[in-house]
Amino acid sequence: MNKPLEQPDLQVKAIHHWVNGQEVAGASGRHGDVYNPSLGRVSGRVPYASSGEVADAVAIAHAAFPRWAATPPLRRARVMFRFKELIEQNMESLARLISSEHGKVVSDARGEVTRGLEVVEFACGIPHLLKGEYSEQVGTGVDSFSVRQPLGVCAGITPFNFPTMVPMWMFPVALACGNSFVLKPSERDPSASVFLAKLLKEAGLPDGVFNVMHGEKEAVDALLHDPRIAAISFVGSTPIAEYIYRTGTASGKRVQALGGAKNHLVVMPDADLDQAVDALTGAAYGSAGERCMAISVAVAVGGVADALVERLAQRARGLKINEGSDEQAEMGPLVTRAHLDKVTGYVGKGVEEGAQLVVDGRGVRVPGYEEGFFLGGCLFDHVRPQMSIYKEEIFGPVLAVVRVPDFDSAVNLINAHEYGNGVSLFTRDGDAAREFSMRVQIGMVGINVPIPVPMAFHSFGGWKRSLFGDHYVHGPEGVRFYTHLKTVTTRWPTGIRKGAEFVMPTMK
Ligand code: NAD
Repeated sequence: MNKPLEQPDLQVKAIHHWVNGQEVAGASGRHGDVYNPSLGRVSGRVPYASSGEVADAVAIAHAAFPRWAATPPLRRARVMFRFKELIEQNMESLARLISSEHGKVVSDARGEVTRGLEVVEFACGIPHLLKGEYSEQVGTGVDSFSVRQPLGVCAGITPFNFPTMVPMWMFPVALACGNSFVLKPSERDPSASVFLAKLLKEAGLPDGVFNVMHGEKEAVDALLHDPRIAAISFVGSTPIAEYIYRTGTASGKRVQALGGAKNHLVVMPDADLDQAVDALTGAAYGSAGERCMAISVAVAVGGVADALVERLAQRARGLKINEGSDEQAEMGPLVTRAHLDKVTGYVGKGVEEGAQLVVDGRGVRVPGYEEGFFLGGCLFDHVRPQMSIYKEEIFGPVLAVVRVPDFDSAVNLINAHEYGNGVSLFTRDGDAAREFSMRVQIGMVGINVPIPVPMAFHSFGGWKRSLFGDHYVHGPEGVRFYTHLKTVTTRWPTGIRKGAEFVMPTMK
């Protein structure tokens, strides 16, 4: 049974920035509403930082940098070890906080926190990861070594859909490398980032090394133009990612900007259909489709389509939809009413464009939560590549089935799409799997794995318009992104002086 949340929902929580190790009230006079998406009501007020407030936070992070950069990596790692323990102890509170502002079910929110925690575990190994290279005798009496040094103040700008995991793709690695950090989280679910900041302080991170500034365009632009910011990590929609990349690099910053996605899952005629249907159901409708690695297109190859659509329809109709704390719920509401309207708008557009709406999730009602931003699972069949529901990212529980005659058509379809984040192939044929992995122009590939998100010790990123910049996030690529390489060549004179040399030095 659905029971309304036990909370005095008329009380609106004040959310604060986090600067120099403490909460700081917004001073710009501007703020945004944060919703409880299940109730459809305002639950918090988040301040929108002015450019002046952002500049003040950057100054704090800039002042904190030299001391933190000079702290031995082993001591920085120990802060990460303590942070890891604190996240484990606070897992439940974090998961409930995420669910209350994002809407995803608590069981899914626990999974999100765990994936972020894995990056913290990776960052605990920083003394090893920062080890350089050493060459003895590059010339007679001359040695050379390479080290990686922190960049300075790094900024993270993050989306609503993973309010802890995406920031944790960034800051544990950045901090462990010796950088200071300013996070500008999504204004739609900002509380979890302040919670993490408090845990970092408790873990022993010096004040000023990690700061959280809330806001929207003005705050982001202030980060993009501040000369003290050395690098920017962005995750969000493609138009904003492109803007961040162009503006940030034009200001001389190192930028990695991860954008939107349209992920395909190809079902070959020889695939285990039960497995493929399970995979598609979880990957399309989990987190209400608000995942950058959600599957939004099922590509049915050859004669598999009719059976596939029939089974998918059954599953989409049977989804358990409720507010997040129901442990049986498979899907919660969408994040805001505006986003719900956008997604339902796409469902209408798909019908107008001539796709067959097999399951219509519009109008779903959750008893006790009638004002919530809920949408049931939607399933389209006979979707064609020129339709907007195929071309554009919907970011909701809407799965489109495209029918293709053969393997080559499936690969060509995927390669022609502007996005290149994730893809998956379900088959029993090793040769087809190998060929697919080699030819497909996508950053993260799954074979009989629906959501091939790389683990923290690998790196995450897409191709084409899903990533602007040269570095993936976390893993070895994260360490490279957050450090400069320095190569030092040394000679200890023995007393033989040769005088100045004017020819290009070559080692003898
Ligand atoms: P969004 O682009 O609207 O917002 C992302 C961040 O950019 C937020 O912090 C927001 O405040 C800021 N922002 C928004 N408009 C801005 C503007 N005009 N100027 C400057 N900053 C601005 O994205 P969202 O709706 O929060 O998140 C969903 C999107 O994120 C989807 O497109 C999804 O695919 C993408 N995403 C991608 C990945 C990935 O790894 N590629 C991961 C998660 C989410």
